Amino acid sequence: MFKPRGEAANVWHRPRSGRSTDIDMKNGEVVKLTDVYKTYRTGDVEVQAVRGVSLEIQRGEFVALMGASGSGKSTLMNILGCLDRPTSGRYLLDDADVSALDRDRLADIRNHKLGFVFQSFNLLPRTSARENVELPLLYGTHRLTHAQLREKADAVLASVGLAGREDHHPSQLSGGQQQRVAIARALVNDPEVVLADEPTGNLDSRTSVEIMGIFQQLNERGITIIMVTHEQDIAAYARRNVVMRDGLILNDFNVTRRLDAATELAKIAPIDSQVQV
Ligand code: ADP
Ligand code: MG
Repeated sequence: MFKPRGEAANVWHRPRSGRSTDIDMKNGEVVKLTDVYKTYRTGDVEVQAVRGVSLEIQRGEFVALMGASGSGKSTLMNILGCLDRPTSGRYLLDDADVSALDRDRLADIRNHKLGFVFQSFNLLPRTSARENVELPLLYGTHRLTHAQLREKADAVLASVGLAGREDHHPSQLSGGQQQRVAIARALVNDPEVVLADEPTGNLDSRTSVEIMGIFQQLNERGITIIMVTHEQDIAAYARRNVVMRDGLILNDFNVTRRLDAATELAKIAPIDSQVQV
């Protein structure tokens, strides 16, 4: 069902942007946290949101980060995503120590190595799907022509099943389609890791499974995925579950009965024949 056709097939099977051999040959950890703490201070109040987390994630993993509200998931994701720095401890991303980098260097790492997907899609309104996807390319170091930007954005949109919707604005797209645009935007710079915080939080159950299908496909292509969810049935699409409680890792295990999105979708009767996968 998720088999990309035409242009899309080329995107999926094309070696990823020049550095593909580099990536394919590199194995081992892409993320290594060692004894990471994060303490928030507001006035006199101190909150230890993360209290000594050590975590290794290998290239090509698909990890669901779980835990009750307030357990520290978003704080940990912000650190993993180089949006925030740990109060103490070490973070190696792709073998580089990013624990103590300044804001500019962190922004640079984010642009080159990471892609982000959020619960609320975070697309620019009144801006086409294509332009939303082009945006991260404008922050890159490479100078692409207008035609090259367009070609790249359209190819990535096609790869997530949105060929023909390039000119649609977010308000003209369903929630699932908006999340696909956001995923395309996350992919356009060929990230090492895609980080997703509750990516299905605003979606109905069928659309959620479709989005898990896209993540599973990306993961098959070798992209590392780290996804926050509090839904057990969504976490079952990942390969590994890491459960947090009170700022610590409570449990960390491989998913034994992993769900396959294509299989699950086939069991669900299509509610809307307009849904294009
Ligand atoms: P989760 O994503 O699992 O719900 P969070 O990482 O958002 O958990 O929060 C962990 C703890 O840190 C909570 O007690 C929360 O109130 C606190 N916290 C999160 N962000 C901040 C912040 N910016 N300032 C102060 N406290 C925060
Ligand atoms: Mg959170």
